[in-house]
Amino acid sequence: MIPENKSGDMFDLKGRVAIVTGGNGGIGFGIAHGLARAGARIIIAARNEDKSGTAVLNLQAMGFDALSVYVDVTDEESVKHMIQEAAHRCGRIDILVNNAGINIRKPVQDLLLDEWRHVMDTNLTGAFLCSRSAYPYMKKIGGGKVINIGSMLSIFGASYAPAYGASKGGILQLTKSMAVAWAIDNIQVNAVLPGWIDTELTRQARKNVSDLHERVINRTPAGKWGNIDDLAGVAVFLASSASDFVTGADISVDGGYSALG
Ligand code: NDP
Repeated sequence: MIPENKSGDMFDLKGRVAIVTGGNGGIGFGIAHGLARAGARIIIAARNEDKSGTAVLNLQAMGFDALSVYVDVTDEESVKHMIQEAAHRCGRIDILVNNAGINIRKPVQDLLLDEWRHVMDTNLTGAFLCSRSAYPYMKKIGGGKVINIGSMLSIFGASYAPAYGASKGGILQLTKSMAVAWAIDNIQVNAVLPGWIDTELTRQARKNVSDLHERVINRTPAGKWGNIDDLAGVAVFLASSASDFVTGADISVDGGYSALG
């Protein structure tokens, strides 16, 4: 059963268990921190176990309940094991954030098939595998929340990101398909589309593209880069009973980037 919300706070996540893939850094950690602040028990699921261990220690030092489980989201068996382990150690799975993602910056004519596959397998197939494995656990407890992390490249094109853009466009359609299929099970599936957020991924992009920093500031109506905490509020909303009739939607968190013509 979904825990009864006795506090009357519709954003309260006490008693809920949340898996955040790629939660050991960047946007995933910002989301994990936000969900933890709302009361959820956090499972950090990623490959780098040292980094995951540090993320867990940081959350615990702030007084939150967190643990980590290894996963490579491109590997079906690894995903199955991660979900089973999470359910075994926490007894339930209420919230899944499909956040793990990579980019390989090349124009389409230079992109190797293996590179294409690696990006698609991580960003899109990974979200499919994790959601499919989590579904029976959510169904068993009478509902759940899946939050898929898209991108501005879910809606815009970029010459340097053919596989990334295809994977992030695909995330929107996967979100809608799962939302429609699982609405009857009281599982809501939504997407978050971050604008330019300061993380390791974009720090690397800034190293490769000299004027990227200024271009982002000039193109973003808010006049600044986002930070990882900017994703926390929307994640809490989509993970909580406040969004129980919201499904198949996408919400941009971008300082107005996608609203600018
Ligand atoms: P980071 O590079 O900081 O984090 C990516 C995370 O994904 C890491 O924690 C990494 O952990 C994990 N990861 C990568 N591959 C795998 C895998 N095969 N299995 C499990 N985990 C994996 O990037 P961001 O925080 O910037 O990005 C997070 C998400 O947000 C991505 O989906 C990205 O596309 C999206 N996004 C980011 C934007 C930005 O401006 N930063 C803008 C729009 C979208 P580990 O290496 O330990 O496995």
